[in-house]
Amino acid sequence: MSLPAEFVERLQEILDPADFENVVASFSKPRPASFRVNTLIAEIPVVLGELEKIGVTTREVPWCPEAFTVNPEFRSVLVESDAFRDGRIYIQNLSSLLPVCLLDPEPGQAVLDLAAAPGGKTLHLAARMANQGRLSAVEVVRSRYYKLRQNLQLGGATLVKTYLKDGRGVGSKTPEQFDLVLLDAPCSSEARFHVDDPESWSYWGTRKIREQSRKQRGLLKSAIQALRPGGRLAYCTCSFAPEENEAVIDWQLERDPTLSVVEVKLPLDNVRVGLSDWRSKLFSPDLARACRVLPSAEMDAFFVCLLEKSSDRPRKLRRR
Ligand code: SAM
Repeated sequence: MSLPAEFVERLQEILDPADFENVVASFSKPRPASFRVNTLIAEIPVVLGELEKIGVTTREVPWCPEAFTVNPEFRSVLVESDAFRDGRIYIQNLSSLLPVCLLDPEPGQAVLDLAAAPGGKTLHLAARMANQGRLSAVEVVRSRYYKLRQNLQLGGATLVKTYLKDGRGVGSKTPEQFDLVLLDAPCSSEARFHVDDPESWSYWGTRKIREQSRKQRGLLKSAIQALRPGGRLAYCTCSFAPEENEAVIDWQLERDPTLSVVEVKLPLDNVRVGLSDWRSKLFSPDLARACRVLPSAEMDAFFVCLLEKSSDRPRKLRRR
């Protein structure tokens, strides 16, 4: 089975020509495998020792001390391990660790996770906060909400308050209450496509991308409303589509003069800057500070952008 032709054509338009072949080839390769030790209920050396005993060789991740990679063939061993079953490790791709690492939450802060299920990043936030402070997790899909609660309970994230709600209404009810906000937006999940799994793209199409883009704008607006002046917000997706990434941020930057994109330096070779334009639309030059993570042997494709709400005078809106 091959990927949808329109998807591949769009990738050719989105990516630098030097990256295109590698990205297309990544959809046929084994998925990378990695995990995070849940430091709320486990100690890293103990977990690594236990995994070593069942034959799993782990490698450190220099930029995230609680994360480890393994060869893809060990994925099933991890899934069957006691450490996974009892919530001491959480299997997650390295890319999905980036937003929490960039937000860098501290114990005692007020943090909002606006699209939270199944809870991988909520648990990561809780662990970095050492279960101290305020962490609110919002999810709109009932079945996913219960999965989130189950994962949080298993992982010992006792500080989290969960809400079965549409995240688009949260900002107006909790204005300027949070030091940090994570918006891991629902998206077309293009990074999860795999040639052996046609189901992975069965709902894909430009209509779906447009639909997601609309929803993402509503969620981002709400997320920014909930952020206190001086606070930071991480926006991320696992999509390549500019309509779901740069265009969403650009739309908000155009409307909110208090907002700016924070420069981040990721210690990775597979990161490219955000797009400056898409089709006929020019984006704010600030979008060059957004990060497009390309798929690699260890990471899934990802988009992440760190925003800050100014506590000073608003900058002028751009005229176009
Ligand atoms: N952050 C999660 C994690 O790391 O485990 C993954 C989040 S997933 C990319 C996006 C989530 O947003 C999905 O669970 C989806 O059901 C939820 N969602 C979709 N629309 C939403 C809305 N309007 N309000 C809140 N959550 C929403």
